[in-house]
Amino acid sequence: MKLLVLAGTGEARRLCQGLACLDVTASLAGVTRVPCDLGVPTRFGGFGGVDGLRTYLRTAAITHLIDATHPFAARITANAAQACAAEEVAHLILQRPGWQAQPGDQWHWVADLAEVPGLIPTAATVFLATGRQSLADLSGLAPQRVLARIIDQQSAAFPFEGGSYIFGTPPFTVEEEVAFFRTERIDWVVVKNAGGAASYSKLAAARHVGLPVAIQCRPALPAGVNVVETVESAQAWAGA
Ligand code: NAP
Repeated sequence: MKLLVLAGTGEARRLCQGLACLDVTASLAGVTRVPCDLGVPTRFGGFGGVDGLRTYLRTAAITHLIDATHPFAARITANAAQACAAEEVAHLILQRPGWQAQPGDQWHWVADLAEVPGLIPTAATVFLATGRQSLADLSGLAPQRVLARIIDQQSAAFPFEGGSYIFGTPPFTVEEEVAFFRTERIDWVVVKNAGGAASYSKLAAARHVGLPVAIQCRPALPAGVNVVETVESAQAWAGA
């Protein structure tokens, strides 16, 4: 077995650590400034679409691929499904369960972030936890005061008027999120349904403070691919 793990999540990091005894290579898109050490040989950067990934799978004689990328990394997930099918590489998706609304939550589901500005009053102060890449889809928020939290320090100007970056590295406690929402007088929270415990605290804090949340649905997974929700299940699939 020669295994490729498409990484970029905490689950991928834990998976790689548990697979270090196998012949495994990890792949990172190379988008973060300081990539974490996965404990296995790691390549960086895109493959060049489906054709590039097919070439890589053939050249590196990959027999198994685990896609442990983020639930919203839809392009690489679709590319991996196509490339594995074409190259007859065994394929598994590891994807953490999505979040479910609890009593007291005021969630408004959107398929597309471009729907968000239509939900939020223009006088509101909006907290965005959707990542830097999603800001283009949210430019319709321009009349509102917007605070977007991102991990990497960013010197470029905010892409639309009324917005500013705040920098922070998760995890944050519920208490920290509550204090932040109160200090900044946040009226609305915008998130993707990323799932996972590490970033759930903002949703618990929104419930506590009584804030409405716009939450983006996950993109659909490719048809016909095995999906597991835990690192342990993915390790078992790999025979580790
Ligand atoms: P994406 O839109 O699905 O992928 C864009 C392109 O980036 C892909 O077509 C591929 O380039 C390259 N790529 C993505 N993941 C890769 C990987 N693990 N190894 C090699 N190339 C990869 O992905 P994204 O949403 O930009 O996310 C990029 C990375 O950040 C992923 O690893 C993801 O797990 C992580 N991440 C994403 C989010 C999010 O909200 N989207 C949040 C946290 C972490 P080629 O077509 O050239 O192969």
